[in-house]
Amino acid sequence: MTLVGALGAFALGACLGSFANVCIDRLPRGLSPVRPRSSCEACGHPIRPVHLIPLVGYLLVRGRCASCGQSIPLRLPLVEALGGLLAAASFAAFGPSWEFLSSTLLLVVALAVSVIDGKHQVIPDRLTLPGLAVGLALSLLPGRPTPVEALLGVVVVGGLLALVVFFYPAGMGGGDVKFMAMAGAFLGWTKGLLALFVASLAGSVVGLALIGLGRRGRKQPIVFGPFLAIGTAVAVFAGPKLLSLYVGWRWAGH
Ligand SMILES: [Zn+2]
Repeated sequence: MTLVGALGAFALGACLGSFANVCIDRLPRGLSPVRPRSSCEACGHPIRPVHLIPLVGYLLVRGRCASCGQSIPLRLPLVEALGGLLAAASFAAFGPSWEFLSSTLLLVVALAVSVIDGKHQVIPDRLTLPGLAVGLALSLLPGRPTPVEALLGVVVVGGLLALVVFFYPAGMGGGDVKFMAMAGAFLGWTKGLLALFVASLAGSVVGLALIGLGRRGRKQPIVFGPFLAIGTAVAVFAGPKLLSLYVGWRWAGH
Protein backbone atom coordinates (compact mmCIF):
# COMPACT_ATOMS: atom_id res chain seq x y z
CA MET A 1 0.00 0.00 0.00
CA THR A 2 1.46 3.32 -1.00
CA LEU A 3 1.14 6.33 1.27
CA VAL A 4 -0.09 8.42 -1.67
CA GLY A 5 -2.83 5.86 -2.36
CA ALA A 6 -3.92 5.84 1.28
CA LEU A 7 -4.00 9.66 1.37
CA GLY A 8 -6.01 9.73 -1.87
CA ALA A 9 -8.43 7.19 -0.36
CA PHE A 10 -8.71 9.34 2.79
CA ALA A 11 -9.52 12.42 0.66
CA LEU A 12 -12.15 10.50 -1.30
CA GLY A 13 -13.70 9.16 1.92
CA ALA A 14 -13.73 12.65 3.49
CA CYS A 15 -15.60 14.00 0.41
CA LEU A 16 -18.11 11.14 0.69
CA GLY A 17 -18.40 11.92 4.42
CA SER A 18 -19.14 15.55 3.53
CA PHE A 19 -21.95 14.40 1.22
CA ALA A 20 -23.13 12.04 3.99
CA ASN A 21 -23.43 15.12 6.26
CA VAL A 22 -25.73 16.78 3.73
CA CYS A 23 -27.85 13.60 3.59
CA ILE A 24 -27.92 13.42 7.42
CA ASP A 25 -29.20 17.01 7.59
CA ARG A 26 -31.66 16.92 4.70
CA LEU A 27 -33.07 13.41 4.05
CA PRO A 28 -35.00 13.08 7.36
CA ARG A 29 -36.67 16.43 6.54
CA GLY A 30 -37.64 15.26 3.04
CA LEU A 31 -35.25 17.75 1.37
CA SER A 32 -33.07 17.18 -1.69
CA PRO A 33 -29.42 16.34 -0.90
CA VAL A 34 -28.19 18.20 -4.02
CA ARG A 35 -30.26 21.41 -4.15
CA PRO A 36 -30.07 24.14 -2.95
CA ARG A 37 -26.35 24.55 -2.26
CA SER A 38 -25.18 24.52 1.38
CA SER A 39 -25.84 27.56 3.53
CA CYS A 40 -25.45 28.45 7.22
CA GLU A 41 -28.28 27.01 9.35
CA ALA A 42 -28.37 30.19 11.45
CA CYS A 43 -28.02 33.13 9.02
CA GLY A 44 -28.76 31.46 5.66
CA HIS A 45 -25.55 32.83 4.12
CA PRO A 46 -24.27 30.55 1.30
CA ILE A 47 -21.07 28.74 2.30
CA ARG A 48 -18.03 29.69 0.18
CA PRO A 49 -16.67 26.82 -1.95
CA VAL A 50 -13.28 26.90 -0.18
CA HIS A 51 -15.05 26.39 3.16
CA LEU A 52 -16.86 23.34 1.75
CA ILE A 53 -13.56 21.41 1.42
CA PRO A 54 -13.91 18.53 3.93
CA LEU A 55 -12.04 19.10 7.24
CA VAL A 56 -9.94 21.92 5.71
CA GLY A 57 -13.00 24.17 5.51
CA TYR A 58 -13.85 23.53 9.18
CA LEU A 59 -10.28 24.42 10.21
CA LEU A 60 -10.19 27.55 7.99
CA VAL A 61 -13.32 28.98 9.67
CA ARG A 62 -12.21 27.60 13.09
CA GLY A 63 -15.54 25.79 13.54
CA ARG A 64 -17.71 28.90 13.11
CA CYS A 65 -19.85 30.34 10.30
CA ALA A 66 -17.63 32.81 8.39
CA SER A 67 -20.58 35.19 8.12
CA CYS A 68 -22.43 35.18 11.48
CA GLY A 69 -20.03 33.33 13.81
CA GLN A 70 -22.54 30.61 14.78
CA SER A 71 -20.59 27.49 15.82
CA ILE A 72 -20.68 24.55 13.39
CA PRO A 73 -21.65 21.19 14.97
CA LEU A 74 -18.60 19.00 15.69
CA ARG A 75 -20.49 16.15 14.00
CA LEU A 76 -19.65 17.60 10.56
CA PRO A 77 -15.84 17.29 10.73
CA LEU A 78 -16.19 14.02 12.72
CA VAL A 79 -18.24 12.34 9.96
CA GLU A 80 -15.79 13.68 7.33
CA ALA A 81 -12.82 12.31 9.28
CA LEU A 82 -14.54 8.94 9.86
CA GLY A 83 -15.42 8.73 6.16
CA GLY A 84 -11.74 9.36 5.36
CA LEU A 85 -10.54 6.73 7.85
CA LEU A 86 -13.02 4.10 6.60
CA ALA A 87 -11.87 4.69 3.01
CA ALA A 88 -8.19 4.52 4.01
CA ALA A 89 -8.83 1.26 5.93
CA SER A 90 -10.68 -0.13 2.93
CA PHE A 91 -7.73 0.84 0.68
CA ALA A 92 -5.33 -0.87 3.10
CA ALA A 93 -7.48 -4.03 2.95
CA PHE A 94 -8.26 -4.20 -0.78
CA GLY A 95 -5.76 -1.93 -2.58
CA PRO A 96 -6.76 -0.02 -5.71
CA SER A 97 -9.72 -2.17 -6.79
CA TRP A 98 -13.48 -2.17 -7.36
CA GLU A 99 -13.82 -3.92 -3.99
CA PHE A 100 -12.16 -0.89 -2.34
CA LEU A 101 -14.57 1.51 -4.05
CA SER A 102 -17.65 -0.59 -3.30
CA SER A 103 -16.68 -1.21 0.36
CA THR A 104 -16.00 2.50 0.87
CA LEU A 105 -19.43 3.43 -0.52
CA LEU A 106 -21.18 0.84 1.65
CA LEU A 107 -19.32 1.90 4.81
CA VAL A 108 -20.04 5.62 4.31
CA VAL A 109 -23.75 4.90 3.72
CA ALA A 110 -23.72 2.75 6.88
CA LEU A 111 -22.12 5.69 8.74
CA ALA A 112 -24.82 8.09 7.52
CA VAL A 113 -27.54 5.58 8.45
CA SER A 114 -26.09 5.23 11.99
CA VAL A 115 -26.17 8.98 12.59
CA ILE A 116 -29.65 9.46 11.08
CA ASP A 117 -31.11 6.48 12.98
CA GLY A 118 -29.47 7.70 16.21
CA LYS A 119 -30.89 11.22 15.78
CA HIS A 120 -34.32 10.53 14.26
CA GLN A 121 -35.04 6.78 14.78
CA VAL A 122 -35.57 6.42 11.03
CA ILE A 123 -33.54 4.96 8.14
CA PRO A 124 -34.56 6.86 4.97
CA ASP A 125 -35.61 4.84 1.90
CA ARG A 126 -33.98 7.57 -0.20
CA LEU A 127 -30.60 6.30 1.04
CA THR A 128 -31.17 2.54 1.13
CA LEU A 129 -33.18 1.96 -2.07
CA PRO A 130 -30.79 3.80 -4.45
CA GLY A 131 -27.98 2.12 -2.45
CA LEU A 132 -29.52 -1.29 -3.16
CA ALA A 133 -29.58 -0.55 -6.91
CA VAL A 134 -25.94 0.64 -6.82
CA GLY A 135 -24.94 -2.48 -4.85
CA LEU A 136 -26.53 -4.75 -7.47
CA ALA A 137 -24.92 -2.79 -10.33
CA LEU A 138 -21.47 -3.07 -8.70
CA SER A 139 -21.78 -6.87 -8.72
CA LEU A 140 -21.24 -6.69 -12.51
CA LEU A 141 -17.64 -5.54 -11.91
CA PRO A 142 -14.69 -7.94 -11.62
CA GLY A 143 -13.38 -9.09 -8.23
CA ARG A 144 -16.76 -8.67 -6.57
CA PRO A 145 -19.56 -11.00 -5.44
CA THR A 146 -21.35 -12.21 -8.60
CA PRO A 147 -24.78 -10.80 -9.58
CA VAL A 148 -26.40 -14.04 -8.35
CA GLU A 149 -24.62 -13.77 -4.98
CA ALA A 150 -25.68 -10.11 -4.73
CA LEU A 151 -29.33 -10.89 -5.57
CA LEU A 152 -29.29 -13.74 -3.05
CA GLY A 153 -27.85 -11.22 -0.58
CA VAL A 154 -30.88 -8.96 -1.04
CA VAL A 155 -33.39 -11.82 -0.79
CA VAL A 156 -31.78 -13.95 1.93
CA VAL A 157 -30.41 -11.24 4.26
CA GLY A 158 -33.32 -8.80 3.76
CA GLY A 159 -35.83 -11.67 3.91
CA LEU A 160 -34.43 -13.13 7.11
CA LEU A 161 -34.54 -9.75 8.87
CA ALA A 162 -38.06 -9.14 7.47
CA LEU A 163 -39.15 -12.40 9.16
CA VAL A 164 -37.63 -11.25 12.46
CA VAL A 165 -39.42 -7.89 12.18
CA PHE A 166 -42.69 -9.67 11.31
CA PHE A 167 -42.58 -11.84 14.44
CA TYR A 168 -40.97 -9.23 16.72
CA PRO A 169 -42.21 -5.86 15.42
CA ALA A 170 -41.30 -3.93 18.59
CA GLY A 171 -37.55 -4.12 17.98
CA MET A 172 -36.94 -3.11 14.38
CA GLY A 173 -38.71 -1.72 11.36
CA GLY A 174 -38.81 -1.70 7.57
CA GLY A 175 -35.89 0.76 7.44
CA ASP A 176 -33.62 -1.82 9.09
CA VAL A 177 -34.81 -4.50 6.62
CA LYS A 178 -34.10 -2.27 3.61
CA PHE A 179 -30.67 -1.35 4.96
CA MET A 180 -29.70 -5.01 5.36
CA ALA A 181 -31.10 -5.87 1.91
CA MET A 182 -28.82 -3.13 0.56
CA ALA A 183 -25.84 -4.45 2.55
CA GLY A 184 -26.63 -7.93 1.14
CA ALA A 185 -26.44 -6.52 -2.40
CA PHE A 186 -22.96 -5.10 -1.72
CA LEU A 187 -21.62 -8.02 0.34
CA GLY A 188 -23.26 -11.06 -1.27
CA TRP A 189 -25.34 -13.43 0.82
CA THR A 190 -22.56 -15.15 2.86
CA LYS A 191 -20.91 -11.97 4.14
CA GLY A 192 -24.37 -10.37 4.38
CA LEU A 193 -25.57 -13.09 6.77
CA LEU A 194 -22.36 -12.65 8.78
CA ALA A 195 -23.09 -8.89 9.02
CA LEU A 196 -26.61 -9.62 10.28
CA PHE A 197 -25.29 -12.17 12.81
CA VAL A 198 -22.62 -9.81 14.19
CA ALA A 199 -25.16 -6.94 14.32
CA SER A 200 -27.68 -9.07 16.28
CA LEU A 201 -24.98 -10.26 18.66
CA ALA A 202 -23.65 -6.72 19.28
CA GLY A 203 -27.19 -5.31 19.64
CA SER A 204 -28.19 -8.03 22.13
CA VAL A 205 -25.06 -7.68 24.25
CA VAL A 206 -25.33 -3.88 24.45
CA GLY A 207 -29.14 -4.02 24.94
CA LEU A 208 -28.86 -6.51 27.81
CA ALA A 209 -25.98 -4.55 29.35
CA LEU A 210 -28.08 -1.35 29.31
CA ILE A 211 -31.01 -3.18 30.93
CA GLY A 212 -28.60 -4.65 33.51
CA LEU A 213 -27.22 -1.19 34.30
CA GLY A 214 -30.77 0.17 34.64
CA ARG A 215 -30.16 2.59 31.75
CA ARG A 216 -33.00 1.25 29.65
CA GLY A 217 -36.42 -0.31 30.19
CA ARG A 218 -37.01 -3.92 29.08
CA LYS A 219 -39.72 -2.80 26.63
CA GLN A 220 -37.91 0.28 25.32
CA PRO A 221 -36.81 -0.33 21.69
CA ILE A 222 -33.11 0.06 20.90
CA VAL A 223 -31.86 2.00 17.87
CA PHE A 224 -30.56 -0.78 15.66
CA GLY A 225 -28.94 1.19 12.78
CA PRO A 226 -25.53 1.64 14.43
CA PHE A 227 -25.37 -2.12 15.19
CA LEU A 228 -26.24 -2.97 11.58
CA ALA A 229 -23.41 -0.63 10.55
CA ILE A 230 -20.95 -2.32 12.95
CA GLY A 231 -21.97 -5.76 11.63
CA THR A 232 -21.48 -4.49 8.08
CA ALA A 233 -17.99 -3.14 8.87
CA VAL A 234 -16.97 -6.44 10.51
CA ALA A 235 -18.23 -8.36 7.46
CA VAL A 236 -16.31 -6.05 5.09
CA PHE A 237 -12.97 -6.27 6.89
CA ALA A 238 -13.01 -9.63 8.69
CA GLY A 239 -15.64 -11.45 6.58
CA PRO A 240 -13.39 -13.71 4.47
CA LYS A 241 -11.29 -14.69 7.50
CA LEU A 242 -14.30 -15.39 9.78
CA LEU A 243 -16.12 -17.35 7.06
CA SER A 244 -13.05 -19.48 6.28
CA LEU A 245 -12.65 -20.19 10.01
CA TYR A 246 -16.29 -21.33 10.10
CA VAL A 247 -15.90 -23.50 6.98
CA GLY A 248 -12.68 -24.98 8.43
CA TRP A 249 -14.51 -25.78 11.66
CA ARG A 250 -17.31 -27.48 9.71
CA TRP A 251 -14.77 -29.52 7.71
CA ALA A 252 -13.12 -30.64 10.95
CA GLY A 253 -16.24 -32.75 11.50
CA HIS A 254 -18.46 -30.62 13.77
ZN1 LIG B 1 -24.11 32.03 9.61
